[in-house]
Amino acid sequence: MAERACTRCNYVSFEKTCPLCGTETSSDWTGLIVVVDPDESQLAQELNINSPGRYALKVRKN
Ligand SMILES: [Zn+2]
Repeated sequence: MAERACTRCNYVSFEKTCPLCGTETSSDWTGLIVVVDPDESQLAQELNINSPGRYALKVRKN
């Protein structure tokens, strides 16, 4: 089963809807970043990530 990424916040999970924001997820995504401490990560701040977890860099709706 392929992992899916949220089309809104890019959070990666196996769910059809994002566990963080409830938005529909997509199986069409590329790039993966792991955020351990969003407050200390410049990349997380650029991507507006506020919760630790795994995120896709690009997500396309499918
Ligand atoms: Zn989300």
